[in-house]
Amino acid sequence: MRGRQVDYYEVLNVSRGATDEEIKKAYRKLALQYHPDRNPGDRQAEEMFKEINEAYEVLGDPQKRHHYERFGTAGDAGSVFDFGFQGNFDTVFNDLFSDFFGNQRPRQRKGDDLRYHLTIEFEEAVFGGEKEIEIPKEERCSVCNGSRTEPGHEPVVCKHCGGHGQVRQSHGFFTINRTCEYCGGEGRVIKHPCKHCKGKGSVRTKKKLKVKIPPGVDNNTRLKLRGEGMQQLGDTVPGDLFIVLQVKEHAIFERAGDDIIVQVDVGFTLLCLGGEITVPTIEGESALKIPPGTQQGRVFRLKGLGVNKSNGYGRGDQLIYLNIVIPSDLTERQKDLIEELAGEFKDSSPKPRKGFKEKFMEFFE
Ligand SMILES: [Zn+2]
Ligand SMILES: [Zn+2]
Repeated sequence: MRGRQVDYYEVLNVSRGATDEEIKKAYRKLALQYHPDRNPGDRQAEEMFKEINEAYEVLGDPQKRHHYERFGTAGDAGSVFDFGFQGNFDTVFNDLFSDFFGNQRPRQRKGDDLRYHLTIEFEEAVFGGEKEIEIPKEERCSVCNGSRTEPGHEPVVCKHCGGHGQVRQSHGFFTINRTCEYCGGEGRVIKHPCKHCKGKGSVRTKKKLKVKIPPGVDNNTRLKLRGEGMQQLGDTVPGDLFIVLQVKEHAIFERAGDDIIVQVDVGFTLLCLGGEITVPTIEGESALKIPPGTQQGRVFRLKGLGVNKSNGYGRGDQLIYLNIVIPSDLTERQKDLIEELAGEFKDSSPKPRKGFKEKFMEFFE
């Protein structure tokens, strides 16, 4: 870029009569466009960026602009550029553009989310309910009222930055603003931190919350309570609270999705002869008819006695599995009767079902 005559007005694409504001605006637009971060590895863009900065350093300074217009050079500026741009582009760039970006990106910091494991009863999962829980909560310290300073004391102005929170450092041509290390950018130093909150400005307390449990929830269902998470100093919005449900096992009922399963013990005579039994359901006892000759493995279904469906429409069913109980300690009389029955079955024992092979043979006879 040295050794050739560059028209700075042309570089910034402004007229010779441009105002300071117009020059600044033109520079910002071009610098954003050619910034190395936006054009990684593009040497031409990098050259352009240097040229734009060179032009602005002259035209943006009334004295240098005047000199440039009179003599066609910027005085001693050239030697300074070479120094300046061996440095960090970003530092220079951020310094010049800090206000520009500051307006574009409003800072929003969300607090941490909380997770709470809540165990509920089987019935609560089926019908829904309400539970009270206690969660940790960050609250403004009542002693210092959030100021973080022990009452009777005041924060003192940071000597290092003079209360600005930022330290200016000159590197030849450029001035760089750095956040003050001593006060962390606050401009003030607390010499006597509040003892109650240890200088945090907030204390951790507990908060009681009522949690509504919708009907039909199951193990690992997550309920989200917006805004009930943490909000610590510097967080603009609180985080969320996630409640992860765990459903206790029931002595009688079992869950299978939206259905409830019940196992009922029955004697083999009932299956032979049929009859009516009483079965437990989630809503109380219910009568169930067992037809004569009921085979093992048959499942009975009580419609609508399951769990609320997760899609909100209708309920599942209750399924009843029969568990056939074979008596193991028979009385003499029971033994006699069964032996007699067995003898009866021997004569008129149910014929074994015809197998596939026999049916197949019959077909071709
Ligand atoms: Zn305090
Ligand atoms: Zn400071």
